[in-house]
Amino acid sequence: MISNSTPEKCSLNNLQCEITFSISNKGKRLLIFKNYVFRCNKTTKSKIYWMCSESECGVYIHTNTTDELICINGNHNHSANPDQLETKLLRDKMKERILSETTSITKIYDEEIAKANLSKGVAAILLTVIEYRAL
Ligand SMILES: [Zn+2]
Repeated sequence: MISNSTPEKCSLNNLQCEITFSISNKGKRLLIFKNYVFRCNKTTKSKIYWMCSESECGVYIHTNTTDELICINGNHNHSANPDQLETKLLRDKMKERILSETTSITKIYDEEIAKANLSKGVAAILLTVIEYRAL
């Protein structure tokens, strides 16, 4: 099927590069778009349906099975939390390393924090997490 190239299509292409993917604690794929997290709602042969992870929010995204953006719809009824998201992604990365490497947990934390060049907000959240885990 050949689709006409419309202005919307162009803007979708621009938005495409703002999409990233992550893996949830439960091993499910997450789509991240402009600091909002979407979880997979349904998969068909040609499309993947993503819902905003905030349950009261109705924003959805459709991608094809090769992760190309098809459409995005709705407005979020809440604000994004980039600090919290960054913390989550960093924590996931650390967890992966902790599980796959023999490096000590403290060393992994130190290395990843140094690498990530964290904003103050993220560092503060992360520190709380580490302290909590150390208890
Ligand atoms: Zn939302």
